[in-house]
Amino acid sequence: MDCQKLAERLLPGKYPALSFYEEKYPPRALGRDAEVTRLAPSPTGFIHLGNLFVAIANERIAHQSGGVMYLRIEDTDDKRRVDGAVEAVKNALRYFSIRFDEGAEIGGDDTYAPWYQRQRAEIYRAFVKDLVARGKAYPCFCTEEELSALREAQTEAKKITGYYGEYARCRNLTEDEIYRNLDAGKPFVIRLKSEGNAEHKLSFRDEIKGDITVTENDQDVVILKSDGIPTYHFAHAIDDHFMRTTLVIRGEEWLASLPIHLELFSVLGFDRPRYGHNCSLMKQDGETRRKLSKRKDPELSLEFYRQEGYFPRAVRVYMLTLLNSNFEEWYRKNPEKPLEEFPFSVRKMGKSGALFDLDKLNDISKNELSCLSAEEMYAFLKEWADEYGSAEEKKYFENRDYLLKVLNLVMGTGGKKRRKDIMTARQSMTLLSYFFRKGNREDAYRTDAKTKDDILNAFLNTYDCNDDAQVWFSKLKEVASSLGFAAEMRDYKADPGAYKGSVSDVAEVLRIATTGRANTPDLWTVMRILGAEETKKRIREEIGT
Ligand code: GLU
Repeated sequence: MDCQKLAERLLPGKYPALSFYEEKYPPRALGRDAEVTRLAPSPTGFIHLGNLFVAIANERIAHQSGGVMYLRIEDTDDKRRVDGAVEAVKNALRYFSIRFDEGAEIGGDDTYAPWYQRQRAEIYRAFVKDLVARGKAYPCFCTEEELSALREAQTEAKKITGYYGEYARCRNLTEDEIYRNLDAGKPFVIRLKSEGNAEHKLSFRDEIKGDITVTENDQDVVILKSDGIPTYHFAHAIDDHFMRTTLVIRGEEWLASLPIHLELFSVLGFDRPRYGHNCSLMKQDGETRRKLSKRKDPELSLEFYRQEGYFPRAVRVYMLTLLNSNFEEWYRKNPEKPLEEFPFSVRKMGKSGALFDLDKLNDISKNELSCLSAEEMYAFLKEWADEYGSAEEKKYFENRDYLLKVLNLVMGTGGKKRRKDIMTARQSMTLLSYFFRKGNREDAYRTDAKTKDDILNAFLNTYDCNDDAQVWFSKLKEVASSLGFAAEMRDYKADPGAYKGSVSDVAEVLRIATTGRANTPDLWTVMRILGAEETKKRIREEIGT
């Protein structure tokens, strides 16, 4: 077979010599230990927690080593491409402070561009042409129907499915048959002529999983599709080589394709990057643990965290907790330090499934947000509300001073103990709502209607908005005792049967009357913020209800 001639027929025209690309994309002038890493998502419009999980690892490793992190868009599958997806990827990752140095729509050094695989078609074709010319790849004319019939027959015979060995029909076409098909204008793909043997095991050093055994590839995988665009497998090998990637941290779902990738690097004659396959994010579901699922778990999508208004640093802290086993301890000891100072290490990455627990994230989130100043909280909430808040919630930000006062109270700033009530921006809107309007009563009164009215009337009779906290409270105690409630908690505890309840039950009635809730920050301050008019109006409305 004249492979040279076949290559010319399949991919006619002049392509640059392969050495041209080696010179065009030279090894990077970086320090010896510098790592070049990347995130290489497909523009499907769905960017998920797994992407962020590996993005954080890749970003840390690159920047910690004085290297480079870039963004490549793997758009070889046009059917899955969604408009606006690249913007969505960029925005989602920017929210979590993933800093790319170069890449699609990033700016930065463009030596290794283009960053969209579809724009790199010529490079891939030049290498496919070379493989054909060297007898390492061949055209395949099998139709979709023939391939699915093959799959069915293989499944029936309990064989491994795919295009390999005796099943790789077009591998052994004669020169005549090939040219007859070409002359007849039959569409074709180009397949790798695998030299592997599935009986052979290879030992492989994975940067995360350690020494593992993989089966040699024997599949004649498609490298160039009939539209002249390569498959992901082929494109990624070319790109990781010419973008001079040194380390690929990616999800362990790619482990199954690793044998193909190893063979491609070898047949292309490239040194391959090191790979680390990161464990999947798992979720406890009753008794079992399963992978987070797009269909069942909204928290898999990164959009979820922005819509709910999670504090990005909290998500980052949680991801780092899951990524590096020693992060939690480091963070406990260094709560004030920038997260970038944590010495991230591939060796400390988990080998098997990381349990993702939204409750744990919520706790971290409350903690992180409780460290903000009221001004910082204001800025964070406003940014969220501008994008996701309802028309009513947007109005909360019209009077900055008022909201700052509210936030100081709700967060307990100034006091010794910070409150940890705010978990996400969305949830905080509910928490803050009663400062802006009297909402629905969320908690029911625990006293009967008459006692409630008596308490509210008695309070209104003594209420003076100029009272300081102490006077306010002593008046409340008077109201309590005048209505048969214990003014002192210890008296109530000593003889509960002698009272209708204690002063705290009286306070609860007032709390529900003014805010609709049984739990709020300091009620005296709440009333101060609401102002005398509003406080009285709300209490009056509750009498007789
Ligand atoms: N395009 C693949 C993805 O969507 C990238 C796999 C890899 O990192 O090699 O996840």
